[in-house]
Amino acid sequence: MPKYQCYWKECTRIRSEFSLFLNRRRPPRFDNHTFCSDECLYTYFKNELNDKWHRLHLEQERRIPRPKIGTILMQTAFVTREQLDEAIRMQTKMQEGRLGEWLLRLGFVDEHQVTAALAKQYGLPLINLKNPDADSDAVRMIPGKIAKRSGLVPVGFDDDQSHLRVAVCAPVDFQFQEAIRRMVHKGIAPYIGDQSAIQHLWERYYEPEELDLSNIPTYSSLQELLVVGNDVVTSAIENRALDIQAELLRDFFWMRLDYPSETHHHFFQFDATTAPVQVPLQGDAEKYDYAY
Ligand SMILES: [Zn+2]
Repeated sequence: MPKYQCYWKECTRIRSEFSLFLNRRRPPRFDNHTFCSDECLYTYFKNELNDKWHRLHLEQERRIPRPKIGTILMQTAFVTREQLDEAIRMQTKMQEGRLGEWLLRLGFVDEHQVTAALAKQYGLPLINLKNPDADSDAVRMIPGKIAKRSGLVPVGFDDDQSHLRVAVCAPVDFQFQEAIRRMVHKGIAPYIGDQSAIQHLWERYYEPEELDLSNIPTYSSLQELLVVGNDVVTSAIENRALDIQAELLRDFFWMRLDYPSETHHHFFQFDATTAPVQVPLQGDAEKYDYAY
């Protein structure tokens, strides 16, 4: 029998108890870690979600200064100061859309120029999606809702299969990509692509319901997320999932349950503006029972 250790760092169970537990059933797993009991897994999950929530709020306060898209387009696409001012005026008046989009709508630039400017702005390579095609195995690694929400589409793998190549459009959110990396267990190699081509790939490779972002339950606090998250963990344990994963992505809560022959995804939204509240960890995990 393989040697297991409980991943919950404050677990106080003695090894012999753990062996007894293991004789009765396969241990529950979360994030590819093994736990001696469901209680330890729940406690770990609660702690992880708490950490992620706080990290998310810290990251949102940290903004990386980048060159302005308008300045880049003035240098690279012969956009004039007057055209830029008009686009900014429209953006302010309509209170929607990005500056690049307005310059495009007003006919001052073409889409490739905006895409090239974005690549410069974010310091990312360009990908030519003239004849949009993607590796469907790569596409299947990221659910449609996550792809759409993060403005990216997987297009393939790099040569040694360790990275997923993704085409992204603005706004590029590197934290979101980092969270996806943890969920798919592959590096993410982002390339800037034309927004229209990315849109086209979504529609080609995902079903409409996979891309549907309406009707996703929304919560306003970490406590509420923990409650729904615990329900998902409970069903995963009952149905003997091989592994459970959970990640907070900007304002999206993504849970992934791996079963022997299929993978289930659960999505929840949350209001990211809510002030972070520390959820107290439960005390010593109660005595676990053997009644599985
Ligand atoms: Zn334990």
